[in-house]
Formats: sequence, C-alpha cells, structure tokens
Amino acid sequence: MNSILYSENLRKFSNVFKQSVDSALECFEKVNENIHLIANDLHLGRFDIRIDAPASLYDSEGYLIDYPIYCGKDGYGAPPMQFPYETYEHGHILIRVFPQKGYQWNEQEKEELDTLARNVFFICGRARLIELLKKIRVTDNMTGIANLQGFNEFVDEVKKRDEMPLYHAICVNIKNFNYINRTIATKRSNEILREYARYVVQHLRGDEIFARTAGDNFLGLIRNENIDEFLEFISKVNIHADTESKFVQIGSRAGVYDIQIGDTIGDIKGYVEAALNMARGQNEDVAFFEHSMMERMLKDKEISAIFSMAIKREQFEVYYQPKVNINEQKICGCEALVRWFRNGKMVSPMEFIPVLESEGTICTLDFYVLDKVCQAIKSWIDRGIKPVRVSSNFSKVHLKNPALADRIFAVIDKYGIDPQYLEIELTEMSGYDNYENLAKFIKDMKERGVHTSIDDFGTGYSSLNLLTDLDVDTVKLDKSYSIRLDDNEEKTKILIRNIVNMVHDLGFKVIAEGVETDEQAEFLKEIGCSTVQGYLYDKPLPLEEFEKRLEKEFTYQK
Ligand code: C2E
Ligand code: CA
Ligand code: CA
Repeated sequence: MNSILYSENLRKFSNVFKQSVDSALECFEKVNENIHLIANDLHLGRFDIRIDAPASLYDSEGYLIDYPIYCGKDGYGAPPMQFPYETYEHGHILIRVFPQKGYQWNEQEKEELDTLARNVFFICGRARLIELLKKIRVTDNMTGIANLQGFNEFVDEVKKRDEMPLYHAICVNIKNFNYINRTIATKRSNEILREYARYVVQHLRGDEIFARTAGDNFLGLIRNENIDEFLEFISKVNIHADTESKFVQIGSRAGVYDIQIGDTIGDIKGYVEAALNMARGQNEDVAFFEHSMMERMLKDKEISAIFSMAIKREQFEVYYQPKVNINEQKICGCEALVRWFRNGKMVSPMEFIPVLESEGTICTLDFYVLDKVCQAIKSWIDRGIKPVRVSSNFSKVHLKNPALADRIFAVIDKYGIDPQYLEIELTEMSGYDNYENLAKFIKDMKERGVHTSIDDFGTGYSSLNLLTDLDVDTVKLDKSYSIRLDDNEEKTKILIRNIVNMVHDLGFKVIAEGVETDEQAEFLKEIGCSTVQGYLYDKPLPLEEFEKRLEKEFTYQK
C-alpha cells in the first residue's frame, strides 16, 4: 500500500503542528511553509483556504481572510475539490484543493485529500480558538473593549518600551449612571454603556488604551499630547438613546495622573483613584492627582473603617444651633448638627460627612441624629419645656430609598411626638436630578405634617429648578451670601434682596445662615428676611446648653 497517510513526508508535515500555534494566520503560515513536503505525493497544484466569520463581541469587524496556502510552480488544473466546514461561531471555512495541471485524482487520493483538509481545518480551527481565548481574557464581555487584564497587559508592553512617562493615566466614572440605569430599562442602559465605551475607544489615537474595569468605571492610558483634548471629549459624550435617534448625553468624572519614571502600576492606579475621589468630593469633572490627596484618601479610608464602631460606641453627639427671629430676638427653631468626639477630640463634620456620603453610610448617621432629635423633643415635652421645631440634616443619598418617609415616621412614632416639631433639611442638592423621587418625598412629608427645607440654596446651578418644581416649606440661603455681605457691595445686596423677594413670592419661608455681624442681621431684617442662624447669636450648642436657652425663653441682647 503506498497511501500517503503512512508516508514519512506526512509524518514530517504533521510534526510541525506539535508546537502550539497562537493564531489562525500563524497556522496558515506554518502550513504554507511545510506543505511542499506532501504536495508532490498528493499531486497538489494549488491549496487555498477561506475563513468567513461573523462579527462578534471579540471581533467587532468579523473575520474574512482568503489565504493561498500553496501554489505549485507549474500551475494547477481543475476542477478543485471543495471542503466546506462550519466553525463554532457560525462562520465558514472553505478549503479548496486543485490538482496539478493535467492530473486527475483517483478515489483513494480523493479520500486522502479529504483527510488532509479535515486535519488542516482542525489545526486552524484550534489555533483560532486559542486566539479567541486570548482575546476573551483581555476583553470586557459587556462592551467588547479591553478589560482590566487587557489594561495591565497594555501597560506591560509600554513598560517594556520604557515609555510610561509619555502617558497620562486616567480613571473615569460615568456621572449619574445609577440614575440612567433606573430611568432607562437596564437592557438599554447596558447598550448605552456599550456604545459609550466603543465611542470613546474610537476616539483614541494610536497607541492608547481605554478599558472597562467594572460597572461604569474605566481606566485609560492617554498620550501626554492628547490628554487635554481627551478630557474635553469625554466631558460630554452624546450617545444614541433609542431608534428614534434621540441622544443621551453622558457626562463623566475623571481622575488624572501624569506618569513619572519609576511609578509602579499599583501607584498609578492608587493615584488616579485618589484624584477621582477628590473630583467627586469637590463636585468637579476632573481632578489631577497631587500627593496630598493620598493622605486625604488614607484618612477617608480610616473614617469609613471605624464609622460603625463609632456609632456603636455612641461617639456622635448632636449639637443644636438656634434659629432666631430677628424682630423679636427670640429662638424660633434650631438645627441639629452632628459632632464626632474621637479620642477626646472633636472631628469636624466637613471631614467625615463627605466620606460617609460617598459610601452611603451617611444614612445610618442621619437616622442616628434623627433619633436623638426626637428623643430630645420628647424629653422637652415631658419636662414641660416648650419645644421649638428642630431641623435635621438629610443627605440626598437617602432619596434612593423609596421607604424613606416611612422610616422617618417610624422614628417619630417611636417617641410619639407631634410631626410639626420636625423639619427635614435636604442638604447638598446641587446637581441632584431625580426630581420625581425628591418631589414625592417632599409631598409625603407635607401630607404627614413634617416641614422640609432646601439647604445651602444658591450654591448649585440647579437651584432655580428646585424652587419651581418642589413644594418645600423653607429655603435656607447659603452662608456664603451672608459672608459676601461683608464686602458691603451694592451688587451682593441687590442679589440677596432679589433672592429673598423671589423666594417669598413663590410662597416659601426664607432663612439666612452664617450670620456673624450686626450689619448682616440689620440688612437681612431690612429686606424682610427675619429668620437667621449664625454665630452672631449662637454657635451650635450641646443639648444641655440649648435646653437652658429654651427653658428661659431666652432673648438675645441687641
Ligand atoms: P450646614 O447644614 O450648612 O450647617 C451649617 C454649618 O455652618 C454648620 O457647620 C454650622 O456650625 C456652621 N455655622 C453656623 N453658623 C455659622 C456662622 O455664623 N458662620 C460660619 N462660618 N459657619 C456657621 P458644621 O456643623 O461644621 O456642619 C457642616 C456641614 O455638615 C453642615 O452644613 C451639613 O451639611 C453637614 N452636617 C452636619 N450634621 C449633619 C448631619 O447630621 N447629617 C448630614 N447629612 N449632614 C450634616
Ligand atoms: Ca443644614
Ligand atoms: Ca446650610
């Protein structure tokens, strides 16, 4: 029997494929280099292969290749034998073999060619699978762009070339993605994420990377000369929202770091994360890393680590700052402000509130404060002290909770107090865009007798919308306005006068906070803002001291 299947040449040819081959193309090249070993025995005139695979997450363009593996120097005859195969991803591989010019294969040779074609198909199919597995490892399966592993491997390559200092590292988080997720169906919001990722990647220039690491978080390496333009580009990305060609504008926040020689990848990731945290805390779109941010981040991490223990140990105390009616110089309410006593020292709320807000643990603290407030009101009533309305600060983080109003009422009911003694101050509303939740909460509170107020009015760009859409009781003019009055500038006065008038015209009460001087108080009184709060009257006081004022129905001296 002289079948080629048992020939020495075929054995040599097959040996080539004992080594692993990483891609279909590499596989074709190997076949191409070695097929001469068996071409003559098989009377091959020509051998070609065509792969046609559809686009997929890992191959956005699909795969179409026509590879002439072998062409004998004396030309080839016809007709070819054709061997079509289907690939695992519903693609097609077509192998065509042509006889040498003038030759006709017999039946046995045709069978041998069938076996050869099948072997080549297996080997190349396997190589393509290996190629795909490698891609899967570095590709994010939701968006099809690089994943963290892909980012790390890209960095390794740049490092090998000693080119890290040519780049800025960037970590990006989509703004209000949870809101997009809630308001647009999840399936659609996944598509938005996918479109966003692909759109941004298309904007990369040359040797850059933008990878999705988790959720709506991305990491990138952008060439130094392109970083400014890239930041501008991602500040507002327009994505098609639906088939009616509506757009959703995707804004983002970014932490950026200018990579220096010797930085490890661990350092770089820590730096951009710290910068992003800083951007978030300061409500900025972009923050460039500075080393002081690392200290801040470590402090923040420490705060979140010990917070629940601090609550258990009752290290938080509630102080009460009087609100004063300046016509009568009497206390007409107060604001509850939390204080943290840690190792005998007081930590400012400005240090820990933003951390707790970003982690969502602020909700625990706000309810802790509300509980203490209701307890205090109850004890005033029990002791025959005439209560005033106490406002408790509630972060916007709460508004995600549909049962917020019920939870507040559970505390009120626990102490059996009249809801009119309570006010909820909604803090940090700038940039808040889920008006539906907010409006519903305020309406619920009103129906059940609890007052609400908008804190720090005038600091956020959305303040005016807040006023027309929401039925709060009181607007708290931010303390920066009182401070600006010190400059005695006519323009500031006009501004404040008009805000106060407008707020009154819209049917809300107004209170000015941060009042420190007689001049400020005098001006506010003159323009009809008769309720104020500030150091001119009292700093936030410990409970006992505040109670003394209440007991005496204290009057401030002019
Ligand atoms: P805020 O709600 O705007 O509270 C007013 C802040 O201004 C308080 O700072 C108060 O002590 C301070 N202040 C009062 N009068 C004056 C004055 O005449 N001049 C100046 N310069 N400042 C004055 P504090 O107590 O440090 O609180 C800072 C912020 O922390 C609060 O700002 C509020 O946003 C937040 N916060 C405090 N307690 C809570 C709480 O229980 N829950 C939540 N979510 N936030 C809280
Ligand atoms: Ca407040
Ligand atoms: Ca305020």
